[in-house]
Amino acid sequence: MTSFDPTAEYSAIREGVAKVCEAFPGPYWQDLDARRAYPKDFVDALVREGYLAAMIPEEYGGSGLGLTAAAVILEEIHRNGCNAAACHAQMYTMGTVLRHGSDAQKQRYLPGIADGSLRLQAFGVTEPTSGTDTLALKTRAERDGDHYVVTGQKIWTSRAEHSDLMVLLARTTPKEEAASRTAGLSVFLVDLRDHIGKGIEIRPIRTMINHATTEVFLDTVRIPADALIGEEGQGFRYILSGMNSERILIAAECIGDAKWFLKKGSDYARERSVFGAPIGANQGVQFPLARAYAHMLAAEAIVYRAAAMYESGLNPGVEANTAKMLAADASWEAAEACLQTHGGFGFAEEYDVERKFREARLYQVAPISTNLILCYIAEQVLGLPKSYGDKRS
Ligand SMILES: Cc1cc2nc3c(=O)[nH]c(=O)nc-3n(C[C@H](O)[C@H](O)[C@H](O)COP(=O)(O)OP(=O)(O)OC[C@H]3O[C@@H](n4cnc5c(N)ncnc54)[C@H](O)[C@@H]3O)c2cc1C
Repeated sequence: MTSFDPTAEYSAIREGVAKVCEAFPGPYWQDLDARRAYPKDFVDALVREGYLAAMIPEEYGGSGLGLTAAAVILEEIHRNGCNAAACHAQMYTMGTVLRHGSDAQKQRYLPGIADGSLRLQAFGVTEPTSGTDTLALKTRAERDGDHYVVTGQKIWTSRAEHSDLMVLLARTTPKEEAASRTAGLSVFLVDLRDHIGKGIEIRPIRTMINHATTEVFLDTVRIPADALIGEEGQGFRYILSGMNSERILIAAECIGDAKWFLKKGSDYARERSVFGAPIGANQGVQFPLARAYAHMLAAEAIVYRAAAMYESGLNPGVEANTAKMLAADASWEAAEACLQTHGGFGFAEEYDVERKFREARLYQVAPISTNLILCYIAEQVLGLPKSYGDKRS
């Protein structure tokens, strides 16, 4: 029988992930949320079952699966009310090492990442003064013999306190001396264990969600020259090449969230009776849920199309960005419909709706904000003048 579900072949993965999630119901997340604590047991369970190593090639101890399988894993985590934000970076940040690292770096790091003995959760790109304008970042890495000396500051470096390694983007050539607008930045794999309290200071940022995000201060940190990934000066290109996969994976999480909100909302609409009838009998309650479902279905199609294009070796920048925007919009619309359906109970922690509602809001802003996606589509697809950053192409 023909299946129109592009993820049909991964149904066993869906079932396996759902089984892991069963052990981490709402009260587990509510407790962590109240304490702003890291879901270590949940992350350990995913590592044990091999899910975070899905995309690591088999020769390094992973499952060697593609982006669609990884997207299914993350979608399913969110569909089951859990949150992959605590660990999703391990899936895509690893790609920087896999695609651009040397053989020695791959041998040294990937097996440990695959078996969970090495945590690569931290991705240090954003800085307080440059924000979305990555090329304006100020963290400097200067070569000094067999080392680079790194000084600067990162912000929103999520999970840095729960990571052994951090992928760091820093400037190695001053902007005015760089060969081109996008040259002069380099990527390093920094072993945080060597430097915390000795040049690297991590300060948690308390946010409206439980996201383990931090500021990272680097003060003349001496990192070995072999921490450089790929060629010096090409870091921006390497980071960009990983962004499509990141956007597709985050979009899959948004689809999972939308499905969770829609189930939660429609279950409640069937059960809750006011004025002698289920509230779901009112079109005013049905329509927002139905509309959100339709938007989720359309977004899901583009998410898995982008994943398939990525897997076939294409560079689906437009599709990955579109998928991220539409999926984030769909999850936010479903969140709104679900909360409204719950009335006052939507605000009560024990229903999980308010927590998921706060969590879903993030994806309008990170890892790339909706405006910047629209800027990209306007410029790249519609041929409109570039409206952001340095206007040189
Ligand atoms: C919880 C959380 C976790 C994060 N985790 C990480 C992480 O692990 N690693 C990391 O490196 N970063 C991380 N980020 C950073 C995230 O990627 C940025 O917050 C995001 O890219 C936006 O950057 P900014 O906050 O500096 O906003 P700004 O760049 O200051 O932008 C502010 C607003 O202005 C709009 N804007 C800016 N320029 C334009 C323009 N030209 N046209 C139209 N609108 C514009 C933006 O859309 C945005 O809404 C995280 C952020 C959060 C909140």
